Amino acid sequence: MILLDGKYQSAILRDILSKEIQKVYPKRPCLLSIMVGESSEALSYIKNKEKSCAEVGIHSQHISLSADCTESSLLETISEANLNPEINGIILQMPLPKNINQDRIVSSIDPNKDVDGLHPLNLGKLLCGNPLFAPATPLAVIHLLESYGIPLSGKKAVIIGRSNIVGKPLSLLLLQHNCTVTIAHSKTSYLPNETLLADILLVAIGQAKLIDQGFIKPGAVVVDIGINFIQGKLVGDVDFNSVAPLCSYISPVPGGVGSLTTTMLLQNTWKAFKLQQCP
Ligand code: NAD
Repeated sequence: MILLDGKYQSAILRDILSKEIQKVYPKRPCLLSIMVGESSEALSYIKNKEKSCAEVGIHSQHISLSADCTESSLLETISEANLNPEINGIILQMPLPKNINQDRIVSSIDPNKDVDGLHPLNLGKLLCGNPLFAPATPLAVIHLLESYGIPLSGKKAVIIGRSNIVGKPLSLLLLQHNCTVTIAHSKTSYLPNETLLADILLVAIGQAKLIDQGFIKPGAVVVDIGINFIQGKLVGDVDFNSVAPLCSYISPVPGGVGSLTTTMLLQNTWKAFKLQQCP
């Protein structure tokens, strides 16, 4: 069994990225994060992103709006950021308060600055096999598989989870790499019927250690995307100790996909910067 080491792959990518960004100095790409309402968890998430940006030479800005801000004031903030040539990428801390229409807000971001890849135009481009910005977590999964030379073409990939941010875009990227893709979800009648056929099993459920050896075809590649906390300890959706002995490759939690996700966002921001410099 070989460990898919996202931390190591992330360090390699960040090194390459910071060298590329140094070449355009004193210009620097800029990522703006917008948060509505205060939450210590979201703040620490944003602080981590800011730290990662600084590490590779990306400038970061942050706008915090009060929890009771109106949809129109958020739209106005985004419109200003869209027009500001100093800002290359815009991300929104989700979820937004219930009084705000999330679809309308996401659609108001300039697709060329939508580095989270959630604008309908970017999702449409992904669907057509011609992505501009794809969401960071699915990009991280593909990078992890490719960096270990794992063949994708012709393989049967089973994804558990159908969210717009992970499962669905990941299915499209895998399809683009010629996998035969199945998406399983909470209404799938009997999960092992699907997962036991998987050459590559990708798990994005959000339930700690749900997937044990009973779901795994021997020799499969297993990618654990889940992030869960048990008594303050970070664990994935896969019961690592029971599954690992059966796998050819497995990604750990922590140290797997999560370690690469922010790096993919940094790469998207660099891509946005380059597109905006030379459209
Ligand atoms: P989500 O809640 O939007 O979607 C969860 C999906 O799991 C749903 O499609 C649901 O149908 C499916 N599901 C739930 N229970 C199931 C069950 N018993 N059997 C089969 N399917 C089931 O979550 P999400 O945003 O897609 O995130 C999924 C997990 O991935 C979470 O743990 C999240 O924290 C993690 N995540 C990790 C990263 C990363 O960078 N590593 C990024 C985003 C999300």
